Amino acid sequence: MAGPLSAFLGLFSKDIGIDLGTANTLVYVRQKGVVISEPSVVALDTRTRRVLTVGTEAKRMVGRTPANIVAVRPLREGVIAEYEMVEHMLRYFIGKVHEHYPFIPRPRVIIGVPSGVTEVEKRAVQDAAVNAGAREAYLIEEPMAAAIGAGLPVHEPAGNMIVDIGGGTTEVAIISLGGVVLSHSIRIGGDKIDEQISLFARNEYSLLIGERTAEETKMVVGSAHVLGTALRTVMRGRDLKTGLPSEIEVTDSAIRAAIASPVDQIVDAVKRSIEECPPELLADIMDSGIVLAGGGAMLRGLDVRLQEETRMPVHIAKDPLQCVVRGTGACLENLEVYRQVFVADPYSRLRT
Ligand code: ADP
Ligand code: MG
Repeated sequence: MAGPLSAFLGLFSKDIGIDLGTANTLVYVRQKGVVISEPSVVALDTRTRRVLTVGTEAKRMVGRTPANIVAVRPLREGVIAEYEMVEHMLRYFIGKVHEHYPFIPRPRVIIGVPSGVTEVEKRAVQDAAVNAGAREAYLIEEPMAAAIGAGLPVHEPAGNMIVDIGGGTTEVAIISLGGVVLSHSIRIGGDKIDEQISLFARNEYSLLIGERTAEETKMVVGSAHVLGTALRTVMRGRDLKTGLPSEIEVTDSAIRAAIASPVDQIVDAVKRSIEECPPELLADIMDSGIVLAGGGAMLRGLDVRLQEETRMPVHIAKDPLQCVVRGTGACLENLEVYRQVFVADPYSRLRT
């Protein structure tokens, strides 16, 4: 197609940004904003390997499926263990926003990937995106996208520190001049906190609870620091001794003790990055503060705890669950300004 004509038709193509998170996938459409936010879950028939459903509907099935159906989270620990499932998810999410008309080019896609993914994994995500209907796929490291989405001045010659606490991973990064100066990624996040709550219920009360009950308990009474007012909630499950339904009441202090280990590991990852940070950048961060993003940023008192342990100001980003996807959106809207932040682009892909 001729240059000007294809450029004109390109205006109708819905370029999209995707945060392929371990817990949630969000989609941003150029000039529209965030249009999809659904769990990164695929429901699968184990006999036929056929995908039954993806996203919100699939998450509802977690823990409630008959024997031949499993609900999997293909990115659980931030690594792409189940390539095929990732492709299915991308196809579902791209398909939801891309309308097929003749001559309208397929969308360009920017995808956030965990920092430290291997070259092989990068290629796998790009291939999955193209197979799933993208025309071109750009990849950006999630902490960089989170920093952009949180409104940090990533292009300036100043240190910016972002901590993105997701379901499967926590990523800490220091960014300056459009690049990641240093980063740490640990496979500890909201999921490990939920697991500790399940273990606590089993060990202390012989109560077997589901994943979703554990997560809800965390959201209702979970904390990383002593609270001003005590909180309590009820956990429902099955008594392992009698086999019958049972419920127990728990307080914020019991849950805080139960989740101390993963919370400590998150705090340690932040402290380690500070210890390794070049002094000039550290001075900048002492001014601007550490910015928390991702769903885990909403754990009560985590900001205060980090402030006490690092002696740095700590801020929770606005809409922490949306930072990464809004960052990919900002890149879409200004591809030229952000060209240097991608860790893979369609052109590097052609070169290799
Ligand atoms: P990912 O990027 O890995 O998909 P998200 O940034 O979407 O992860 O965050 C999901 C995690 O945030 C889950 O573990 C969820 O339980 C946790 N989360 C969400 N809201 C809260 C809250 N209010 N308090 C504590 N944790 C929360
Ligand atoms: Mg994330």
